Amino acid sequence: MTINIQPIGKISTPYKEKFAIPRQPGLAKSAEGKITFFEGFNDPNYLRGIEQFSHLWLLFHFHQTADKGHSPLVRPPRLGGNKKLGVFATRSTFRPNGIGMSVVEFGSVSYQNNQLSLIVRGIDLLDGTPILDIKPYVPYADSIVQASGGVAQHSPELMEVTFSEQASSQLNQFESHYPKLAALIQEVLSQDPRPAYHKDSHSDKTYGMSLYDLNIQWQVINQQNVVLAIQLI
Ligand code: SAM
Repeated sequence: MTINIQPIGKISTPYKEKFAIPRQPGLAKSAEGKITFFEGFNDPNYLRGIEQFSHLWLLFHFHQTADKGHSPLVRPPRLGGNKKLGVFATRSTFRPNGIGMSVVEFGSVSYQNNQLSLIVRGIDLLDGTPILDIKPYVPYADSIVQASGGVAQHSPELMEVTFSEQASSQLNQFESHYPKLAALIQEVLSQDPRPAYHKDSHSDKTYGMSLYDLNIQWQVINQQNVVLAIQLI
């Protein structure tokens, strides 16, 4: 049996590459995305009443990894990349049908110049991700307080993030354009995006990630992430 699915829209986000995107929604609360609706769904009636829900489920397609296929076993980064779990026991992007699901905070709806859009916050989606469906988060059914989270019982430990003098002055330059930039960088880097096999090393490697049209460089110094530079790409 084959099912054809038509995306309802796509999301634009600050995350221009996979590297450093938090592993789940809500970890970087300042990460804002804008869903624009495709023809056939570009009608405000589709969103009527949605503002009464504080949070929404987004179902989406892991479009950037979809052509990489999948295997029954994956190595979750949570386990340091050394142990394997069944793909259905993980939230891996490499899965049959490549469907992702994220709970995000509702922001606002707008309909301007005949274009319907929806702002959401706390996203973990790459820029340009196709959106397949949107549903309200319903606390009485979706929140299970006594649920067991297995290997992902607790949110990841956070790292301290500081800004060098140079990075602070560069931040000032860009903050009028990106008002939540400092918070976003702080939230993303506090997740320690380094690959698992780098975490125990004491190297002075400089890492880089892109947010919006900016390249952010940082180093790990005394167990802290120190932002060194923020520059236009
Ligand atoms: N919350 C979703 C879920 O549980 O289905 C996604 C979890 S997945 C572990 C999160 C990672 O997916 C992000 O860190 C990012 O690297 C990756 N990702 C986000 N959007 C993607 C896309 N469109 N294609 C491929 N990978 C994507």
